[in-house]
Amino acid sequence: MQIEKMNFKKMSEMFMFEQKISIIAGPCTIESHYQMDKVAATLVRNNIKFIRGGAFKPRTSPYSFQGLGIEGLKILSDVCKKHDLISVSEIIDPRDIEIGLEYINVIQVGSRNMQNYSLLKELGKTNHPVLLKRGMMSTIEEFLLAAEYIIKEGNKKIIMCERGIRTFETYTRNTLDISCIAVVKQKTKLPIIADLSHSLGRKDIIKAVFRYMINTDVDGIMLEVHPEPQYSLSDSKQSLSCDEFTELLESNKLY
Ligand code: PEP
Ligand code: MN
Repeated sequence: MQIEKMNFKKMSEMFMFEQKISIIAGPCTIESHYQMDKVAATLVRNNIKFIRGGAFKPRTSPYSFQGLGIEGLKILSDVCKKHDLISVSEIIDPRDIEIGLEYINVIQVGSRNMQNYSLLKELGKTNHPVLLKRGMMSTIEEFLLAAEYIIKEGNKKIIMCERGIRTFETYTRNTLDISCIAVVKQKTKLPIIADLSHSLGRKDIIKAVFRYMINTDVDGIMLEVHPEPQYSLSDSKQSLSCDEFTELLESNKLY
């Protein structure tokens, strides 16, 4: 596999700044300019460089809110320009890659699309950073091979993301597989981050798990943050408020 031989850059080097652990935070879904601006201001105050937010949402139910689409991407891009942030947002359809390249700094491939091979191949033909989430039912081998699909087409700018897998456990939404982080570290030089919000699905234990994670060699942590989580159009239960997020960072002295 090419993935094992390549000398990839760390996430911080990919974006030309030095931060041992990169935090990617923002709402599940982009809902309004006001919402994104509030989150962005919180990120800047905490010296965070990456903002996330979905414009195309892969919802389990076709009747759930599907995101603002291109309008959402425009909001994200405006807010990034204003606050000098790097955006992470998901593309679910290969036909939207072109528009994604225009508005998004890091294109996310979501869990449900980890094995969407036409999407992976098309992203592999670009030179754009890709954040590849592990499929919720995928083995580590399948996760590595999905990255290989992108690499094989020539794109080496991949950030791997462990976001929890489905198990029999019900206390958490998914099971955060920390061994996946170790295997990816052992077999590749790709950066790997942990998405705590989608792994846990609840925020009362985020503080503890965050503390465990920052004491590993993980390259980054993804967290969902919303100015008013109770009104969030998706993943309301697992989203931190701006104050909760700030408190989490302040109690953990990352930078
Ligand atoms: C997301 O990050 O918004 C998302 C939908 O996550 P996942 O693909 O991991 O379910
Ligand atoms: Mn979400």
